[in-house]
Amino acid sequence: MNTSAQSTDQLTFCDPVTRFPEITPPKQDQPEPGLDAELIPGTDRGEDSYRGTGRLEGRRALITGADSGIGAAVAIAFAREGADVALNYLPAEEEDAQHVAGVIREAGRTAVLIPADLIDAEACREVVSRAVEGLGGLDALVNNAGKQIAVEKFEDLTDEQWTQTYTVNITAMARIVREALPHLPAGSTIVNTTSIQAYSPSPHLVDYASTKAAINNFSKGLAQQLAPRGIRVNAVAPGPIWTPLQVSDGQPKDALPEFGKSTPLGRAGQPTELAPAFVFLTSPESSYVLGETLAVTGGNPTP
Ligand code: NAD
Ligand code: MG
Repeated sequence: MNTSAQSTDQLTFCDPVTRFPEITPPKQDQPEPGLDAELIPGTDRGEDSYRGTGRLEGRRALITGADSGIGAAVAIAFAREGADVALNYLPAEEEDAQHVAGVIREAGRTAVLIPADLIDAEACREVVSRAVEGLGGLDALVNNAGKQIAVEKFEDLTDEQWTQTYTVNITAMARIVREALPHLPAGSTIVNTTSIQAYSPSPHLVDYASTKAAINNFSKGLAQQLAPRGIRVNAVAPGPIWTPLQVSDGQPKDALPEFGKSTPLGRAGQPTELAPAFVFLTSPESSYVLGETLAVTGGNPTP
């Protein structure tokens, strides 16, 4: 099921409680990384609903984890706002990435496809150079790729998982920023995906949640360092958003049917509901916003 047919565009006055249906996902499992193509129910990434208003006209953006979920919604929104987009994702996610690339091209923008595993330091460098080459430059970076594997007992959290989660979520982010900086002119933006987990860690996500706290701190420090160069750094903290991350061991299976129901809005978020936050922080209209983490949580409070 794709819920997008039921939704209005993001600029139409609506009740946020009922803009998207409350979902009760069945228990399901996908190997890591999960695919949007196989997620039940399907998600709204804005294909039929996101309306651009020219806010990113002529921009050149690299987005990691851009094949599915939040990254896909951001890629679609950026293209509809006038940007050319380079998409990084894992090779196993080609099907999802091709779908997003098709939507970008339908919008009349360029999509550059860059499958690569960011666990590898050399791959981080290559992703940036291929994006610069494919787009003819770079002035927007969205560090959105993330690894989340739920582990009930801390004794079962292996060294391997700890290291991989930290490498993908925070070390790769630092490597990509370092590689991108020589290419970013004044006016460029970096937006990092953190999480409500940075403030309210779930007991089964100790490794993941602590990387998200690190991303918040990294974003605030880097924002101050890069401000004099005219490069703005911000972050977005999603709450519970229905994406493939959740069914590829991101949540305990028993938790899936209840996913997102405990938010004040009473429902999980859809990926496209994140896109306007990334668009705002990338667009010149947020020129005085730096080191901010914008919470998009359905009302769950962040400090
Ligand atoms: P998703 O599974 O659709 O996206 C995560 C993406 O990360 C994958 O598509 C994959 O391309 C990428 N990725 C993972 N490991 C990688 C690796 N080794 N190399 C390259 N890419 C890799 O799920 P999503 O929920 O849209 O996640 C996007 C971001 O949002 C993540 O950083 C996640 O932590 C964050 N987030 C999600 C939620 C939520 O409820 N869905 C809440 C808070 C934060
Ligand atoms: Mg994916």
